[in-house]
Amino acid sequence: MRKKLVVGNWKMNGSLASNALLLQGLVENPPVDAVEVAVCPPFIYLGQAASALEGCGVMLGAQNLSAFAGGAYTGEVSASMLQDLACEWVIVGHSERRAYFGESDALVIEKLRMALAAGLRPIVCVGETLEQRESGLATQVVGAQLDALTQALSAAEAVSLVVAYEPVWAIGTGRTATPEQAQEMHVFIRQRLSAGGWVGEGVRVLYGGSVTADNASLLFGKPDIDGALVGGASLVAGSFLAICAAA
Ligand code: PEP
Repeated sequence: MRKKLVVGNWKMNGSLASNALLLQGLVENPPVDAVEVAVCPPFIYLGQAASALEGCGVMLGAQNLSAFAGGAYTGEVSASMLQDLACEWVIVGHSERRAYFGESDALVIEKLRMALAAGLRPIVCVGETLEQRESGLATQVVGAQLDALTQALSAAEAVSLVVAYEPVWAIGTGRTATPEQAQEMHVFIRQRLSAGGWVGEGVRVLYGGSVTADNASLLFGKPDIDGALVGGASLVAGSFLAICAAA
């Protein structure tokens, strides 16, 4: 039985004041035990979020981590630093990092190794662009991203890893994949992971891309959608909590 997981990715949004309100909203109406919930604020606000969320059942994650363990890497944040700030989760290979910061599959793997070695649970993002989907290349692109994972990591090493299917054309665009499109890709993801030696049925696969309180129930109604990675709608406590409740 795969427990549903809803993760809020705040991206580069927030301030001490606005975060305080958002965190207060989460603490006052904590999500039910039936679903796991985490939020991923910007690095600089992890300490604020860790203090505010302590004991309320909402877990903490980061949006990225360094591929290096520590030392002279100006501007980087290591896996052990994230652990120090009570992070349990870390997003790796988000499409924005792949597109704007040149993160390759190889770098994603290095980051994953760091995260796993530190006991962090990674949420690895995969997904195709609109052009790739319209050219009929969606499964080829996602398949190659998944093969990079299964070739580098054994099933045992990756046991805590979660996959997020995030079609790039649906992120922040208001254009959600239909529940049927997402379900179809999630089934493909499980099959491809199994073909690579992992237990595809056991891996949680989240959907991400313009998930809102309005479309969450239909998405979560599909048998292979195990929750969501939520961007924009995670910035408003009411919307995020409604998505958690739908899970
Ligand atoms: C994301 O950034 O992971 C995401 C899914 O964003 P949004 O929900 O805003 O589309």
